[in-house]
Amino acid sequence: MKRLLILLTLALPVAFAGAGDKKPACVPAKGGTMTNQITKTDVEWRKILTPEQYHVLREKGTERAFTGEYWNNKEPGTYYCAGCGTTLFSSDTKFDSHCGWPSFHAALAKDNVKLQPDHSHNMVRTEVLCAKCGGHLGHIFDDGPAPTGQRYCINSVSIKFVKKEKKPDAKK
Ligand SMILES: [Zn+2]
Repeated sequence: MKRLLILLTLALPVAFAGAGDKKPACVPAKGGTMTNQITKTDVEWRKILTPEQYHVLREKGTERAFTGEYWNNKEPGTYYCAGCGTTLFSSDTKFDSHCGWPSFHAALAKDNVKLQPDHSHNMVRTEVLCAKCGGHLGHIFDDGPAPTGQRYCINSVSIKFVKKEKKPDAKK
């Protein structure tokens, strides 16, 4: 009998420990949305953006035509959101619109930009925003070239350009 008690005393903690080892059900729920909304306070945005970037991205400002960094940029590469780094536009869709702002006839990934009606300044326009951080990028118009007929008129200060690296010519 004494032996049995000793066995029980030894076995019980092991049994409980075993029960505690069971993995909790912390598997991510299936069918979750892919929206990765970046939310920051105004104070946080001011810390990471320049005053010009803050004015355009967060206060829906507009840089003066022909003053931005990229309106005349013809280098091959990719344009990212200056606020959160989301991929927005490719140089492949950039065209010379003569309007003084970088213009694209398509977004690189449609899900990365958000369009919404804008009735400010007594005009009816469609605003273009970054879908991830909600930053104001510019406006979209229906007077662009083929194949889309659209013109994304974007502030240079809202985007960051990364030049495409030339691949070393290994075949020579
Ligand atoms: Zn963004």
